[in-house]
Amino acid sequence: MTEIPEDHPRRDSLVTRHRIEDGVDAGITSRQGLIAQGRGEAYDYLLGEETIPSADDATRAAAAHLLLADHPVLSVNGNVAALVPGELVELADATGADLEVNLFNRTEERVDAIVEHLREHGATDVKGQAADARIPGLEHERAKVDADGIYEADVVLVPLEDGDRAEALAEMGKTELVVDLNPLSRSAQTAAVPIVDNIVRAVPNVTRHARELADASREELDAVVDAFDRETALEDAEQRIRDGVDREA
Ligand code: ATP
Ligand code: MG
Repeated sequence: MTEIPEDHPRRDSLVTRHRIEDGVDAGITSRQGLIAQGRGEAYDYLLGEETIPSADDATRAAAAHLLLADHPVLSVNGNVAALVPGELVELADATGADLEVNLFNRTEERVDAIVEHLREHGATDVKGQAADARIPGLEHERAKVDADGIYEADVVLVPLEDGDRAEALAEMGKTELVVDLNPLSRSAQTAAVPIVDNIVRAVPNVTRHARELADASREELDAVVDAFDRETALEDAEQRIRDGVDREA
């Protein structure tokens, strides 16, 4: 990997970009993943490459949803696996969620490589290889999920998910938590909780909130969920991107 000076003003962004490149070289990330990363970087640049207050509210609501869930699942694709493998394992531990590899451009080789990569980062049980159930309303390959994973989950975290699949999961009645830097993306628009933030900041933030809320009662967690307003969060993010300031500022 190319050396990036410690004091480079956009160091984090460049490190992230190189991790995606390494993911492609390792057979974890698809080439389309490079393009998705480029789109994400553009939005992140406009957001100021920081977690805006409404995104922090969203991560707290997401943590509460995961803690309240009967069967929470964290969906992992090639970009997510390249960027935050260890952080996802920590989030799964903090919330009791399952990890499931779930790819838009699915190949068995890539699923196996990502499962192995997550194991190297401390995961014990990773779903996604069985692929013995289908999300209704999607063509065969794009619909594949595990029967005892995403198919029967009540709450699913789907970072950087394709719009069609996000909509199909929402139609199955799942509570969908989405991480997507584009507030206008259909994935963000269909989410119960849209987290408009970079995945590299969002996942550790959800874990931090989950640990803070670990001893909260169901009533307290319900209150966190109820206090979150998805429309306001989406509007705040769009406003920040368009004007470079917070709505309340
Ligand atoms: P649609 O509007 O149908 O959802 P899309 O243009 O969003 O299409 P996708 O490939 O489905 O395309 O989605 C990739 C999404 O992931 C983009 O919205 C992009 O901004 C976002 N993204 C890319 N990298 C990151 C990242 N590191 N963190 C968070 N979001 C990211
Ligand atoms: Mg999208």
